[in-house]
Amino acid sequence: MRAVKEKIHPKWFPEAKVHCACGSAFVTGSTMPEIAVEICSACHPLFTGQQKFVDTAGRVDKFNQRVSAAKKKQDEAAARKAAKDAQKAAAEAAV
Ligand SMILES: [Zn+2]
Repeated sequence: MRAVKEKIHPKWFPEAKVHCACGSAFVTGSTMPEIAVEICSACHPLFTGQQKFVDTAGRVDKFNQRVSAAKKKQDEAAARKAAKDAQKAAAEAAV
């Protein structure tokens, strides 16, 4: 007796190999003999409890660069304002 109807099901690989980008690999059942994944239960933040960025296009880097550029501008503006305030205070003290 067969469990499934013939000729309508794809080929089943009971020992399909799954490779993750993190280096871990495991075996599962699949219709594909080999599977490459970017994230798995060994490296997903849900299981590791650690923050991790899945960054394939460098978007996180770009964002961090923008953040540091904005911070630099803010610091420069604050320094200018402080110098201006000091000048103003000195001018008022001289009067
Ligand atoms: Zn992984």
